[in-house]
Amino acid sequence: RNNPTLVCAPIMAESVDKMVINMNKAKQGGADLVEIRLDSLKSFNPSDDLKTIIKASPLPTLFTYRPKWEGGQYDGDEKKRLDALRLAMEFGADYIDVELQVACEFNDSIYGRKPEHFKVIVSSHNYHDTPSAEDLGNLVARIQATGADIVKIATTALEIADVARIFQLTVHSQVPIIGIVMGERGFMSRILCPKFGGYLTFGTIELGIVSAPGQPTMKDLLHLYNLRQIGPDTKVFGIIGKPVHHSKSPILYNEAFKSVCFNGVFIPLLVDDIANFLQTYSSTDFAGFSCTIPHKEAALKCCDEVDPVAKSIGAVNCIIRRPTDGKLVGYNTDYVGAISAIEDGLRGSHNGSNTADSPLAGKLFVVIGAGGAGKALAYGAKEKGARVVIANRTYDRARELADTIGGDALSLADLDNFHPEDGMILANSTSIGMQPKVDETPIPKHALRSYSLVFDAVYTPKMTRLLREAEESGANIVSGLEMFIGQAYEQFERFTGLPAPKELFRKVMANY
Ligand code: NAP
Repeated sequence: RNNPTLVCAPIMAESVDKMVINMNKAKQGGADLVEIRLDSLKSFNPSDDLKTIIKASPLPTLFTYRPKWEGGQYDGDEKKRLDALRLAMEFGADYIDVELQVACEFNDSIYGRKPEHFKVIVSSHNYHDTPSAEDLGNLVARIQATGADIVKIATTALEIADVARIFQLTVHSQVPIIGIVMGERGFMSRILCPKFGGYLTFGTIELGIVSAPGQPTMKDLLHLYNLRQIGPDTKVFGIIGKPVHHSKSPILYNEAFKSVCFNGVFIPLLVDDIANFLQTYSSTDFAGFSCTIPHKEAALKCCDEVDPVAKSIGAVNCIIRRPTDGKLVGYNTDYVGAISAIEDGLRGSHNGSNTADSPLAGKLFVVIGAGGAGKALAYGAKEKGARVVIANRTYDRARELADTIGGDALSLADLDNFHPEDGMILANSTSIGMQPKVDETPIPKHALRSYSLVFDAVYTPKMTRLLREAEESGANIVSGLEMFIGQAYEQFERFTGLPAPKELFRKVMANY
């Protein structure tokens, strides 16, 4: 364990019995403490129920009785609410949480009566935004002045750059502090809490049952993001996209980092403005990023240096912050991933080969689509000596790409009757056939007969309708998963300077 940050499981249930069941689940799942949300109980008899809960809890307890005016569910008398919290303290609670508005009054009322191990968390929740650094500093000072043992500030992220101000606050705080930024754009505050010295972070016992927006599950915190291993020196990596929550990259890279004992963590980064994101998180601790839709073109413009191949393709899907001078260097690994997967498919091997001659040389290579992936495929195939034809819904984009790389262009409709020769290669680089529209396909089955190999960049599902029909028509098929794994090998090596654990990559991806 590389950090003292605690994992706290929020316990929300309508009855005390259910709370007890969930407290045990929290313990089994690896939590360090439970936050009992008294305001979630349907009926609550303080003197009996508090005793029962404290006695039954297998973990240290934090009691919170959140009123409606601070975003909770309690709508009753304030005196009764604070009496219940005082009672929890007397019965042996380890922590209670009181809201800043009532904290002075509350702390005065327990002055001199606090048990030795007991701590008061004074909290402030902002469901609208994240204030300026100055306002946040003042807020901490006000909370500290109430006599808080622990400061808790929860704000809302309107953009991912907001989280930086909470990290600053946390890392410089003289008192124990819980700094959380709510919402999907604030997600990294929950994972990187130990890196910046936060007192605790919240993890739910079940998916979707959250006490505040953006909470991860305890299981993801501990086993996907390896929270116990994160420390001040841990390097941060992530996938920049919008949307990004479906990405498999965090599963793949975190597992791989762990397998080679690399001190890094890989997180999903929901980014609206990539230039602002890169400027805000400019320290060398934020060491590398994968980029996906819709940021690949904008990423290229943000880099200080761009690999020549990525420049020709016009898209960057991997950014490395050079440790020596902090400069951003952009690469395109989609190109290598896709082309080597197709070459392996033609050679009938999974292991790549160093043969100088590509099996693509001289082949007629048809690319469907002219977006980021299409450019990478067209450029890569051309590099390997193939004759390239681009078919796209918007013909003008096909034409433009064909002119750039030196190939031919077709409209998508013309592809149906395009069979100048046998043994051609087909690569779909559009999202047609991707979940949830798995019944769609970019080309009718009868037109597949002239192809000896069909590749699909779509990898959810692994077996698309296009690949199924291609196989039925007698073609070799290569799935987008191979491209995904291929580009990930190269990114991993750039991120860590270590060879990628290839077998592990295959094993992890086989589960999806
Ligand atoms: P992109 O830049 O947005 O390009 C999308 C392309 O698909 C464009 O050519 C677009 O045609 C075409 N298209 C989209 N919807 C269409 C439809 N309904 N009918 C006909 N054409 C359509 O996207 P991208 O970054 O290239 O990604 C494309 C696909 O590749 C995605 O499914 C992505 O998941 C996949 N991909 C996979 C990997 C991997 O590792 N396996 C890596 C990268 C990308 P117009 O020009 O007419 O708009």
